[in-house]
Amino acid sequence: MIVILRSDATEANVQHIIERGAKIGLKANVSRGIEKTVIGFIGPEDALRSIPLEVFPGVEQVLQVLAPYKLVSREFNKQGTIIKLPYGVTVGGKHIAVMAGPCSVESYEGMLSIAKKAKALGANILRGGAFKPRTSPYDFQGLGEEGLKILQAVGKEVGIPTISEVMDTRQVELVAKYVDILQIGARNIQNFSLLKEVGACKKPVMLKRGMATFIKEWLMSAEYLLAHGNFEVMLCERGIRTFETATRNTLDINAVPVAKKLSHLPVVVDPSHGTGSWEYVAAGARAGIAAGCDALMIEIHDNPEEALSDGAQSLMPDKFEELMLSCKRVAQAVDRDL
Ligand code: PEP
Ligand code: MN
Repeated sequence: MIVILRSDATEANVQHIIERGAKIGLKANVSRGIEKTVIGFIGPEDALRSIPLEVFPGVEQVLQVLAPYKLVSREFNKQGTIIKLPYGVTVGGKHIAVMAGPCSVESYEGMLSIAKKAKALGANILRGGAFKPRTSPYDFQGLGEEGLKILQAVGKEVGIPTISEVMDTRQVELVAKYVDILQIGARNIQNFSLLKEVGACKKPVMLKRGMATFIKEWLMSAEYLLAHGNFEVMLCERGIRTFETATRNTLDINAVPVAKKLSHLPVVVDPSHGTGSWEYVAAGARAGIAAGCDALMIEIHDNPEEALSDGAQSLMPDKFEELMLSCKRVAQAVDRDL
């Protein structure tokens, strides 16, 4: 249930409603927007119906959220979530953020070199995996904590926020110590223990859609994060499995306007994993922006031939520059900045 307060509602009105809900076991989550404050109540349906919240001072409207996801639903935050990161970077709102970097953190020198180029070309978040979810146990599994240290050091040196994947509940504290955004990968979208643990952690998080996950399931997984206290969540479309084999995955462009309509969370598009081939990455990125995404995630590498993972879909800096230029034009056409 969502309680929308009038613009002249006072803090005392808000507290009164929260306390009244708490008395009958309802948990309140408050979203303070520029114009209006919204209280989302979670709890048993009969408890929700038992108090006439409409008559409480300061209340403008009470909405029953029929969708199974409540806190992530658009009704909860009509104007959309904007996530604030270090160095003045934001995700959500008019400006489109660009996350770029190698699939895996491989070395300090390699990371520093690509990070400087990424930033100079307009990226404002640095990616790099340290714990890698690889199909084969014989493939490079990531540098682990050493990789996180490199990512953090390079992020500080270049002055750019960082993102890296957390694969396991036992790693949450460790990864959160080094990076600015925790990434939950496609393979872990329904790892509910991990979702609860990351939900309890006060760090922005990017939740990738699974390769065979309905949009509704993706939003329900995001709901776990919010229900456990973490509201700084972004959704990431990274391609789904279809019958098509010409590309690694099928980038589901439909997911962008659908997720934007159903939820207030920023939506990221990852055309690198979405296509699996460097040749198609820029087209996927442009399509993502045209469809209304709030950020891109692009894999880049100075020498893709030697990359320890995902070389085939990694762009060299010159191609990344071309991508940025063409994406800027598309952004302008849909009234966004890049
Ligand atoms: C990645 O970002 O490198 C990654 C492993 O992504 P996904 O979980 O989408 O496969
Ligand atoms: Mn990758």
